[in-house]
Amino acid sequence: MGHRLATPCEEAFFFVTNETLSDLEPQVLSRPEHSLSRTLISKNTLKVLYRLHRAGYLAYLVGGGVRDILLERRPKDFDVGTNARPTEIRRLFRNSRIIGRRFRLVHLLFKGETIEVSTFRASPDAEEAPESWDGDEGNEERLADIEELETDGHGEPLPEEYGTPEEDARRRDLTINGLFYNISDFSIIDHVGGLEDLDARLIRTIGEPVQRLQEDPVRMMRALEYAVRLGFEVEAATDRAIHECAGMIAEASPARLTYELLEALTSGQAAGICAAWQHYGIFERAFPEAIQGGDELIRVLEEVDRRHAAGQQLSEASLFGAIFLPRLAAVLREQAPAEARVDNSKLLRSQRELLGPACAEMHVANRKQHLINGGIFAVSKLRRPPERGRQVVKLVRQESFPVTWDLFTIGVGTGLLPWDTLAPWSQAVEQVHRLGADARQRFQLEGEDQPRRSHARRRRPRRRRGRHASTS
Ligand code: ATP
Ligand code: MG
Repeated sequence: MGHRLATPCEEAFFFVTNETLSDLEPQVLSRPEHSLSRTLISKNTLKVLYRLHRAGYLAYLVGGGVRDILLERRPKDFDVGTNARPTEIRRLFRNSRIIGRRFRLVHLLFKGETIEVSTFRASPDAEEAPESWDGDEGNEERLADIEELETDGHGEPLPEEYGTPEEDARRRDLTINGLFYNISDFSIIDHVGGLEDLDARLIRTIGEPVQRLQEDPVRMMRALEYAVRLGFEVEAATDRAIHECAGMIAEASPARLTYELLEALTSGQAAGICAAWQHYGIFERAFPEAIQGGDELIRVLEEVDRRHAAGQQLSEASLFGAIFLPRLAAVLREQAPAEARVDNSKLLRSQRELLGPACAEMHVANRKQHLINGGIFAVSKLRRPPERGRQVVKLVRQESFPVTWDLFTIGVGTGLLPWDTLAPWSQAVEQVHRLGADARQRFQLEGEDQPRRSHARRRRPRRRRGRHASTS
């Protein structure tokens, strides 16, 4: 029989058949048949799994934790699936809170770790809430944003929304994300062909790809994100479906899109992920105001990734700011070529026009927007060499200065901003940091006129003038 591509109709038939095959037994690997060792699961996660198990519930490690350990990668976080209901989970764990509107997820908060526990559910089109929050201020804000979107009173979810473990596996996004590790016998349970795709290094949606991407277009971003993060190939039908559905990304909830963007920016592979999103026409459609494609943005993201690799954690404000860097540099070039001074109010106006709609589109919280604004604005000051010690101290003491410095150095590192002021500014900033609280009194630039040092000497002539005036 010759090789021939299946017609769409045949493909649909194949998937329908596949669905009906779902009644077949899953592939189960017993402990000796796989490499997932408990020593690779965090202590807190094990505690959660065991407590659920001892209370008589099914307790599975699910999602990225299973995938990454099988790939000999360190999981970013651990997710747990169970047949315990959210209220039952809460009864077992005091350190917990329920999030999500339709399907309640429970976040168990441990020191330095949040574990997401979700009750098995059936519906494939459920919107996912983001899974974990490190608890830093920025993340709390993100959580608040999303809770606002997804929390709806205190009513219990409808019972029919819960499902069997198999249904739960099938409602997940990608086959490699649909694997379960069962704490009761340490086996791996595969209802969706995830083990095979892990071996073949393939990204494939669970079920019919167009339908699954239509249900939740954010899955397109996730599919490409994992393809880049893991170095996997996108399977042919999934690839076609992403091309076909790319336009639908605009319909997804902005808070979730921004969440995925931040996941990418902090992954250490931001450049690759965003380039893949660009390639499929998803990036600009997801963020029409904030993202203008092009190589410059990818270069900036490569620099962001280099910092990540060097162990530097950029704040969310710096990461958002970095996205605007190419456009900011263009504005600066246009408004103040070379070292010329910028017209502050004109620059602020352009910045507001650029950032306002983009931040609104990305649901950036006000406080963070304030930091991004201040941080970006001061970058213009660093294009000229430092002039006065007091100017440097004042700038460095600004709350948004860390953002400014990140953006300036990233801009210089990528050739978007001129490099010749980097050395004098680095020196000056370092000195100010070194002087700490004394900087205001003691810091001055080389060759700068002696600052007015002694109060006594400064005041005397003034007093004399005063006396003079009063006697005349
Ligand atoms: P990582 O945490 O390393 O990014 P992960 O696979 O654990 O990877 P999460 O975002 O933590 O990703 O989601 C946990 C699991 O929830 C996923 O593995 C997947 O099974 C499921 N999931 C997440 N988002 C979706 C979605 N949009 N549609 C269907 N299932 C999803
Ligand atoms: Mg996870």
